[in-house]
Amino acid sequence: MTKCKNVIIGCGLSGAVLAERIATTLQEEVLVIDRRDHIGGNVFDFKDLETNITVHRYGPHVFHTNHKEVWDYLSRFTSWYRFMYRVKAVIDGQEVGIPFNLDSLYQVFPEKMAVCLEEKLLNRFGFNRKVPILELRKTQDKDLEFLAGYVYEKVFLGYTTKQWGVRPEELEASVSGRVPVYIGRDNRYFQDKYQAIPEQGYTEMVKRMLDNPLIEVCLNTDFKKVRDDLSYDRLFYSGAIDEYFDYEFGNLPYRSLDIVFKTYDMPFYQSGPQLNFPENYDYTRSVEYKYYLNEKSEKTIVSYEYPCAFEPEKNERYYPVPSEDNKALYEKYRQKASGLKNVYFIGRLGGYKYINMDEAVAGALKLFTEVFSS
Ligand code: UDP
Repeated sequence: MTKCKNVIIGCGLSGAVLAERIATTLQEEVLVIDRRDHIGGNVFDFKDLETNITVHRYGPHVFHTNHKEVWDYLSRFTSWYRFMYRVKAVIDGQEVGIPFNLDSLYQVFPEKMAVCLEEKLLNRFGFNRKVPILELRKTQDKDLEFLAGYVYEKVFLGYTTKQWGVRPEELEASVSGRVPVYIGRDNRYFQDKYQAIPEQGYTEMVKRMLDNPLIEVCLNTDFKKVRDDLSYDRLFYSGAIDEYFDYEFGNLPYRSLDIVFKTYDMPFYQSGPQLNFPENYDYTRSVEYKYYLNEKSEKTIVSYEYPCAFEPEKNERYYPVPSEDNKALYEKYRQKASGLKNVYFIGRLGGYKYINMDEAVAGALKLFTEVFSS
């Protein structure tokens, strides 16, 4: 029997924050277990040996937050390459800025029409407002209805059907609301105060968080196989909550990605770091990684994301699927979890919530305070 006061399942951001806090501030031992062969969970990145370009194995991770506390906390473990993310979607063969904004209007419509639509948007919503596409579709004005139909069709419908296997309105509005129509002229993908990529990579940042003699990391270890041999005072679990309970109420659905990386023998392959493909192709987006840290190489690496359903033992969980039914199923697991003493479910999979990196860090910091100050 292995005994450790604090056991953490999953070595992603949530797990690493809790391990670091417990070891550093409480001076208690922590055992972190992960079934993969690397730390970092889905933020894992590595330097490709052939090109010297830093690649994100589980798809693009661009850190952005308005939480100063989260920014300051992570800054203890990394320096940053400040990076304002820009994304374009290929619409009718043209690269259009995303989120779709006032400048995008002028890219896709004749000027007279764009002027009219801009005026209507400004009158109806005001400048610098973000309007989810599903909300824009509800306007009664026929010109705005036309615009909403265009953006829905060209930006959201194809991409979302590929990404999630369902139409935008079949998911919680917050999903398409992540990329609202932006009645403004700020062409960045995010508007957060802090936007950056860890200069030495996410893996290095997580490694530094775990760099404490009180923290032991056990990789290639499946919690299911060792749980009967473990004894602990507290368990922090960042794996999938349905798996923890042996799928007692049924499987919570997840989307997965098949990410194909290609190396091209040319300095740059595409016009910017990320292109979205709402129309055509089976992949949703292509990401050219050398833009992320402004790395120099004669070659370049581009990833293509092919979404698919998550299948246990076959691929990885990437995204919980936010819908009414799935929320109700998760609620059953959450109720059951709340009956457990000293077991805490954390992160995207533990909370079955489509959260960003900063929310994972904020959630773990908050939980740490709650658990250890009571
Ligand atoms: N989305 C879309 N078209 C786009 C970009 C986003 O339809 O060009 C929708 C799609 O449903 C996507 C969601 O908005 O899954 C959230 O996009 P985000 O870029 O935040 O996705 P992530 O980077 O988390 O995969």
